[in-house]
Amino acid sequence: MNIARIVLDIPTQALDEAYTYAVPEGMDDLAVGCAVVVPFGGRRAVGFVMEVREPDEREARLFAGDQLTLSGIPSKMKPVERVVSKSFFDADGAACAAFLAERYLAPLSSCVRLFTPPGGVPRMVRGRNGWRLEEPATKEVDVRWVRLASGAASFTPRKSAVKQIAILQALAAGELRVSDLTAEYGAVSSTLNSLVKHGAIEIFERRSLRGTPQGAEYAATTLAPAARPQLTCGQQEAVAAIDAAYRAHAGGCVVVDGVTGSGKTEVYLRAIETCVREGRSAIVLVPEISLTPQTVARFRGRFGDMVAVLHSRMSAGERFDQWDLIRSGTARVVVGARSALFAPVRDLGLVVIDEEHEGSYKQDQAPRYVARDVAAWMVARRGAALVLGSATPSIETLYRARHDPSCTLVRLPQRANGKPMPQITVVDMAREFSNGSRRMFSRTLSEALHEILRARHKAVLMLNQRGFASFVLCRACGFVPTCPNCSTSLTYHEQGNWLVCHHCGYRRHTPPVCPECGSPYLKKFGAGTQRVEAELVGLIAEFGDVAAEVVRMDADTTSRKGAHEALLEKFGSAETAVLLGTQMIAKGLDFDDVTLVGVINADTQLRLPDFRSGERTFDLIEQVAGRAGRADLPGRVIVQTYSADAVPIRAAARYDREAFLANELEKRKALGYPPYVRLADVLVWGKREDQVQEEARSVYAALRARLAEAGSQGWLMLPPVPCVLSRLRGYFRYHITIKAPLEADIGGVLATVFRSRKTNPYVNVAVDVDPQSLL
Ligand code: ADP
Ligand code: ZN
Ligand code: ZN
Repeated sequence: MNIARIVLDIPTQALDEAYTYAVPEGMDDLAVGCAVVVPFGGRRAVGFVMEVREPDEREARLFAGDQLTLSGIPSKMKPVERVVSKSFFDADGAACAAFLAERYLAPLSSCVRLFTPPGGVPRMVRGRNGWRLEEPATKEVDVRWVRLASGAASFTPRKSAVKQIAILQALAAGELRVSDLTAEYGAVSSTLNSLVKHGAIEIFERRSLRGTPQGAEYAATTLAPAARPQLTCGQQEAVAAIDAAYRAHAGGCVVVDGVTGSGKTEVYLRAIETCVREGRSAIVLVPEISLTPQTVARFRGRFGDMVAVLHSRMSAGERFDQWDLIRSGTARVVVGARSALFAPVRDLGLVVIDEEHEGSYKQDQAPRYVARDVAAWMVARRGAALVLGSATPSIETLYRARHDPSCTLVRLPQRANGKPMPQITVVDMAREFSNGSRRMFSRTLSEALHEILRARHKAVLMLNQRGFASFVLCRACGFVPTCPNCSTSLTYHEQGNWLVCHHCGYRRHTPPVCPECGSPYLKKFGAGTQRVEAELVGLIAEFGDVAAEVVRMDADTTSRKGAHEALLEKFGSAETAVLLGTQMIAKGLDFDDVTLVGVINADTQLRLPDFRSGERTFDLIEQVAGRAGRADLPGRVIVQTYSADAVPIRAAARYDREAFLANELEKRKALGYPPYVRLADVLVWGKREDQVQEEARSVYAALRARLAEAGSQGWLMLPPVPCVLSRLRGYFRYHITIKAPLEADIGGVLATVFRSRKTNPYVNVAVDVDPQSLL
């Protein structure tokens, strides 16, 4: 008799291990990855099978001494009641879920859930008559089709059978859906029945694929492959490196470090061709915002119906159908956002992560995984290879490429079309200010804008905005007060006029004048998109001789579904236009007639009190620059800043990654940040500050005790302090930052504290292992 290890589908830390159940003889459909119903604590629960095996020696001995019930199952061991789904994942998936739970200190059931189709899992619900099983909300849908049968040729309908004649004529051109016929001819079922009886037609079912063009049903056709350009030398080198890693079956990694437009996507396509030709599968992750129809079309153009697409804007039904296509092995190229990493592909050969530096590859709720790190684990386990592509690879990835022999870096410094990267001009706003200008648009930017509007081109202006964190800045000299302990910017708190460090708790009153230059213009910094929009409209009116559509794109104007696309459409189709928006416009913008890109305020990002703010500023400027002058018209980039001397800005303006890295790595090393340490951030939040403080202190004490017990050499823990976002949606937020050596097993060491902690009904506690920021 076999046993099954089963994780209950109840996401709490307390029930966070697999339980052992007996598999009754004859339950042949039970396999790893199936949802099952099992008895649990006097009721029934749904769980997932993580492992099926013969009992080990200890278990066997336990059973042997046990009394067997009539059914042959040891009386103390409860049997699986029934299997209620097909298998959602295999042994590799089960192992991956266990890895996620351990590494990110997340409930195992929430990790398992990543592998199941959305809405496709049955649940136990409490009804009037106790617990009952609720069927999945989302299921496959079959559609009934009609086609001519072998008897059609010899069947002649009576002249009066008008409907029969019409339907047979329609079917002569090809198969049709019953619903199409109904739409055309009204009630057709009796007509169809009699045609079937005469052997003239047959009715069959075909799996419907929701969300495919015109609701078209799936047909196993392949498109003619789209034209494949002759690869550049750099692209050839990249493809060769990926092929080598792929052939090695050893979890190797290739970093494709290529400027926007250098042909990275073409490299992915070629590498995937090899993988697919050999019957293996590939997963391509792209940031949600870049997952546009154009992106999908590039993959469909090459791989046709072998492509499945997964993203959060699809309906549960659409995702379910795509998921099923992948599971059946029909779709072998999966293009999707972060969670597509867990798609049930057959024989994984390649994982590609495009724009790998993107913060959105970190999930912001449990399990708080980093897709890049999970992908690295996955390809090692499954003998596949990982491709990380970006115009601005993350510092962690660049560091790995330097130090890990299994990781190769290939550079593509030129655009595939040979056009030069645009020139980047840095405008020192403090100097503008001291020259008497109080405007948000510098003279350089206004003149450039006027010029391109006269030439009937388009401009993109970016206003960097992270609404919550404010700091003060001297408009005369650019000075920003920083923490003497942490060298991060102090956050301004209007109440009490305090400046506070959100890492160590240091605080001081806001000085009345600038301590550097004595100017009284030491002001809270930051302006909303609406204010900038008003000033921009005024500026264009002042030019007098040009007109331009101003399209504003921010959280307010894009909240409706489809609004984002509609605004881009409006911008694209206007004759002359200026697109003004927040960070969200840095990506996915690809318009030939954009010749000017302006960054209104490069400081907001730079001054965020976070260890990654320099890196994000550098990335942002390089990314935005990649959007200008992509086609025939040369482009120009203007960056306005009060920190014209800051290394991330100066280096970005020269496209000098090495200079930026040297400076940044030195800082990170000195202050103890990734890639030199691993971080864990313990978040504590609740409605009442005193309760939050108390809980934070108690968690801190428990962690101190645990670290002492574990003899954690080289670990460092900072005491609880308010987060930079100290209040969010009515919650007070505190955090405890932990720094651990690179090789430390953070999950293993901290697990005992969090798995055994009693939950507090008023205060939430979450651990974020490998956080992307410390805000
Ligand atoms: P990236 O993904 O690095 O931004 P893309 O793969 O999108 O770059 O390529 C940018 C443009 O250059 C695309 O229009 C693509 O079709 C084209 N392209 C890519 N590789 C080549 C090549 N070897 N020869 C000519 N054009 C190419
Ligand atoms: Zn000053
Ligand atoms: Zn500090």
